[in-house]
Amino acid sequence: MLQLSVIRFIGAVVFAWLVAGDAAAYTLKTTSAGNTVRWPDSTMRIELRLGRDVEGLLPPGHVYAAAMMAVEAWRFRGVPDVHIAEGEAAPYDPHARNNGIYVLTDWPFENNRLAVTVTSYMPSGELIGADVLINGNVDYGLLPEGKAPRKLAGKHDLAAVMTHEVGHVLGLDESDATDSATMWPYIRAGETHQRSLADDDEAGVIELYTHIPAPLTDSGCVSNTVAGRSAASRPLGPPALALAVIALAVRRRRPVRGHHHRTR
Ligand SMILES: [Zn+2]
Repeated sequence: MLQLSVIRFIGAVVFAWLVAGDAAAYTLKTTSAGNTVRWPDSTMRIELRLGRDVEGLLPPGHVYAAAMMAVEAWRFRGVPDVHIAEGEAAPYDPHARNNGIYVLTDWPFENNRLAVTVTSYMPSGELIGADVLINGNVDYGLLPEGKAPRKLAGKHDLAAVMTHEVGHVLGLDESDATDSATMWPYIRAGETHQRSLADDDEAGVIELYTHIPAPLTDSGCVSNTVAGRSAASRPLGPPALALAVIALAVRRRRPVRGHHHRTR
C-alpha cells in the first residue's frame, strides 16, 4: 500500500539521521536542510485527543490518566503546552495528522515497537501535526510507581510510553546514550521511571524552545491552538512538507533466571 511505503521510506531517513547524529545525550530533530523541527511558537497550546478505541486498552479512566501524566511531565515555562482535549480524535488517517492518540491492532511496524509518533512538518522545520500510534498487541498497564508486583511485571506502563511519545510530539528525538532518560528509545516491562523526565529530557526540550523568535501577533493574544481538524486540513503533498516516524522499541532482553532479566 502506498501509505505504508511512504512511512517506511520516511523511517529510513530518520534512521540515517540517528546514525549521523551526536549520541551524547538528547537529540533535536533536524530537517535534511538542517532546520530544527519544532512547533513555531513556544506559547502555543497543542491539543491531543484520544482516538475511539484507545480507552479500551485499559480499565475505564486509566488511559486518560496515563495521557494526563504524560502531558503534565512536559509542562515547562517557555515550552508549548500539550493538552489532552475533550472529545474524540478524528479516525486515524495515515495521510493526515489529526493530533490524535490511537491504538492500532493491525500494527504496520515491527512487533517490538511499543508506540510510534508520526509528525508532519514544513521544510522550515515547523511542526504542523502529530499522531501517537500505540501498538495494540502489547500488554499494557498503568503500573504502580516503583517495583511492579509480580503479576504486573510483564506489562508495559502506558504512562511511561505516552510520556516518551509526547516528547516526540514536542519535537525531541531519541536520547540514545542516556538510559535514565524518558527519551531513551527503549522501555522495559514493569518499569515506570520514564514517566518522570530526567535532566537530559528537560535540558533537551528547553534547548529546543529557547531560541525561537517571539510570535508575531497584532491582537495581543499570545496563545495559538493547533486543533486536530485544522492540522488535518493542511495539504500533505510531498513537496510541501516532510514526515517523520519515530519509534519506541521494546528493549530486547534475555531471561537470566526466574523472573530476573538482564537489564543491559
Ligand atoms: Zn522514541
